[in-house]
Amino acid sequence: MRDKIPLAKLVYACPRVVLERKTCKVVFHCSNGDFEFLCGSNDHGVEGSAEENPIILHFNHLLEFDPTLEEIRDLKVGFEANRQEKGGIWSINPLSPEDDEF
Ligand SMILES: [Zn+2]
Repeated sequence: MRDKIPLAKLVYACPRVVLERKTCKVVFHCSNGDFEFLCGSNDHGVEGSAEENPIILHFNHLLEFDPTLEEIRDLKVGFEANRQEKGGIWSINPLSPEDDEF
């Protein structure tokens, strides 16, 4: 059985995903164990806010926003998951070195 992200794990998320409830389309599982949940666009800013840095929160909050994130809860370290839309099929690929830390 593969490891799943613990509900209480602190993860990084794009402010758009957290504050605007935009669909998370990109998930990184970095080699240092960190998880990032991103909106998938190039601009992560939120209108009316200077917040562009990732927000740190417990994984269970993201799961409450979007239960389909359960599908990639066992994403292996060093891999990323991408999808086009909420509920869409995830494609899983090795994380590129430049995405492995931030
Ligand atoms: Zn974003």
